[in-house]
Parts: sequence; structure tokens; C-alpha cells
Amino acid sequence: MRAVSPQDRNEEFDVVVVGAGAAGIGVAVALGKVGVAKLAVLDRYDVGASFERWPKHLRFLTPSFPAHGFGLLDLNAVTPRTSPGLALQTEHPSGQQYAEYLRAVAEHLHVPVARGQDVLDLQRDSRDEKMPWRVRTRDHVIRARFVVWAAGEFQYPRLNGFPGAEHCRHTSLTASWDSIGEGGHVVIGGLESGIDAALRIVELGERVRVRVVDPAEPWQYAQLDPSRALTPRTQERLRGALESGRRIRLIGGGPVQRVTPVERGYLLERTGARGLVTPNRPFLATGFSGSLSLLDSEFDRDPETSAVKLTEHDESTRSPGLFLVGPQVRHGALIFCFIYKFRQRFAVVAKEIANRLGLATDPLDEYRAAGMFLDDLSCCDDSCVC
Ligand SMILES: Cc1cc2nc3c(=O)[nH]c(=O)nc-3n(C[C@H](O)[C@H](O)[C@H](O)COP(=O)(O)OP(=O)(O)OC[C@H]3O[C@@H](n4cnc5c(N)ncnc54)[C@H](O)[C@@H]3O)c2cc1C
Repeated sequence: MRAVSPQDRNEEFDVVVVGAGAAGIGVAVALGKVGVAKLAVLDRYDVGASFERWPKHLRFLTPSFPAHGFGLLDLNAVTPRTSPGLALQTEHPSGQQYAEYLRAVAEHLHVPVARGQDVLDLQRDSRDEKMPWRVRTRDHVIRARFVVWAAGEFQYPRLNGFPGAEHCRHTSLTASWDSIGEGGHVVIGGLESGIDAALRIVELGERVRVRVVDPAEPWQYAQLDPSRALTPRTQERLRGALESGRRIRLIGGGPVQRVTPVERGYLLERTGARGLVTPNRPFLATGFSGSLSLLDSEFDRDPETSAVKLTEHDESTRSPGLFLVGPQVRHGALIFCFIYKFRQRFAVVAKEIANRLGLATDPLDEYRAAGMFLDDLSCCDDSCVC
């Protein structure tokens, strides 16, 4: 295996993986294990680039613990027999540390990554049965038999959720909290990143206060699935801040409908609830629209949830040969947005591609042994006995 280079413009690949984050590196390793020889991983920046861009203060919520000697994989590992906890000697890695782990995995397992390859779009030429995919980057067009889309969400924050959203700032784009201004702040969205932002703000001292607005009031509920509620770590931090009298107000009620600049700052109009005025630019913690916005025509979408529709092998129901890995994978009520969840589908995708390429799939047995091969989705639900 070797990395694609600009001279490869006429070269063909069995599989092109777009994105060298947790999902791209993880699935590429699985594809390497089944012997996909002509494999390229393209990234617009570098391995782990999104993690590298996390604000410095952010740490992983899911703890890393080296336990695979006893059959339990580190929650943040992307391959069997690796552990960010062991490699980095920390339980809650920062984004920069986790990028270091991904780079080590890519290097050690010889993942063929081509850096600086910004993929602009994909096209499918159905007349070309052998190599139907055209992966267009800024410099060239690469032909591929299969494409695995692993370009993630983080580099595509949702900035237009309602009229006036352009007056707000997205939490993921806030590099420095020290210069956000004194007085009142509002954070729109009360899940992980919203509560984290609120905690960051009140840590600045007595001269700031913050209101978090979210009609779903996720801070109220404990749920088994951390994709739908706050994780125990964030609940604990929030409880600590409220108990020590930090000035955080959690506000449910109607969703923010519009933000307008007014003389005293910004007016947040809410559906069926009183408006709020804040002197500082509101923060958006409303999530990410995701890299799939580049591929609208390649996927069918569920009209209710707007999640992309996938086959049981995580292949697009509309465009055969295009697979999806990473946090945008959904199957019914199951949301695969944490690493410990979506890594369980790498082997599912690798197995399907191996079958179609006529390669043996037994190297993937080690994924099953490591609890990284979730092909029976009936096993997952929200029940818990305590
Ligand atoms: C604040 C925060 C905290 C989180 N905490 C946790 C946690 O504790 N535990 C957990 O499991 N998950 C956590 N997550 C979620 C986790 O970070 C994501 O699920 C994970 O990054 C997704 O990995 P990925 O490989 O799909 O995407 P990314 O890591 O974003 O990788 C995508 C890669 O694709 C590249 N790329 C993007 N677009 C293109 C393009 N057009 N062409 C070429 N390359 C492209 C990027 O440069 C990037 O390297 C957190 C997320 C956030 C934002």
C-alpha cells in the first residue's frame, strides 16, 4: 500500500476513504487487514485534523482505560489491541493528544494517507462498471471502485439553523474564551457542547453570567444513551458549578426562532415563550450539519429524522459502492455518534467490500473478539436494570 500523490491522477483504487479522522483511520486499518491492496485515504489536512482543531480546553468525555488484556477495549480505540489511554497516559485525552494517537496508529499500521487532498465532490459513472467512482479533489480526479465517506461533522458546524443565526458564534469556532466579554451571555443548545461552553464562561469569574436555552431541557434527564442526554462527567461538572453558586441559568420552553441585533445587544425571540435580550453575541451550540452536505444527491434521507438511509452494510441506498462510516451513521433509533459506537461498524463495511473484491474475511475475526463487529443491531437498546 502506498499513499496517493498528484502524479496518480490517472490511477485507480479499489477503495478511496475520504477523511483521516477516527472513522477514516479505523476503517482503513480494517480494510488493510482483509488485504485491500489499492487503498488510499485522502484528507484535506492531515491525520486527526479535526481533533487537532478542538479548542485547547476540551477533553474526551468517554474515558480511556487500557483493558484489552481482559477482553475489554479502550472506549476510544479505533483498532483492536490499541489504547489511547495507554499510549497517552491519560484518561480523558485532549483533541491534540487524540490526534497524536491516530497518527501513531496510521504510522504503525502503514495506513496510506494522502494529506492536503480536499475532496470537493463525488461522481458516479454507472457506465464504468469496474471503477464507477470519480473522487474530485482540488488538483485531480481519482477513479475508485468503492468510496468510504469518513469526513465527519466537526469541520462543518451548523451556522444557519434559524433567521439571524449569523449574529451568533458557534462554540466550535471559539478559539479563546478569555476575550468573550463581561456581563450576560446566552448559549443556544443545552447538550454537551452547550453545557461545556456555559461552564467555560462562568469559570471566567464573577463578572460573567450565562443562560442556556434548550426546549428539550437535556440537563433534566439521565439516559443510558449519551447521544441523547448529558454524560455523567458533564452532569457532575454542571452539578458542581450550580452547587458552588456559579451563575448559570438553565431555561427550557420554546425554541429560539430568530436573533436580531437591538440597541442593548441581541434579542432572541422564542416560539411560545418570552424573548431574551443579551448584551453579548449569543453562542450557538446547535451541532453540526456535517460533511454529508457535500453529497446531498448521493443519499436518500428519512423524511422524519433527515438521517441518511443506509443498507445493513452502511452503504448508500441510492448510490451503490458508496459507504458511510462515522458519527452520521444511524439505524432507526440507534445513533452511532461516539467512537465506541461507530467503530463497531468498520468491520461490517470492510467485510462487505472484501466479499465483493473476493478477499477472505477471517482477519476480521479479531474485531468480533474485541467487541468491534456489530452486525446484529437487535442487541442494542436503552434498557438498564439500575
Ligand atoms: C466537543 C466534542 C467532544 C466530543 N467528545 C467525544 C468523546 O468524548 N467521545 C467520543 O467518542 N466522541 C466524542 N466526540 C465526537 C467525536 O469527536 C466525533 O464523533 C469524531 O471526531 C468523528 O470522527 P470522524 O473521523 O468521523 O470525523 P473527524 O474526526 O472530523 O475526521 C474527519 C476528517 O475528514 C477530513 N475532511 C473533512 N472534509 C473533507 C473533505 N471534503 N475532503 C477531504 N478530507 C475531509 C477532516 O480534515 C478530518 O481529518 C466529541 C465531539 C466534539 C465536537
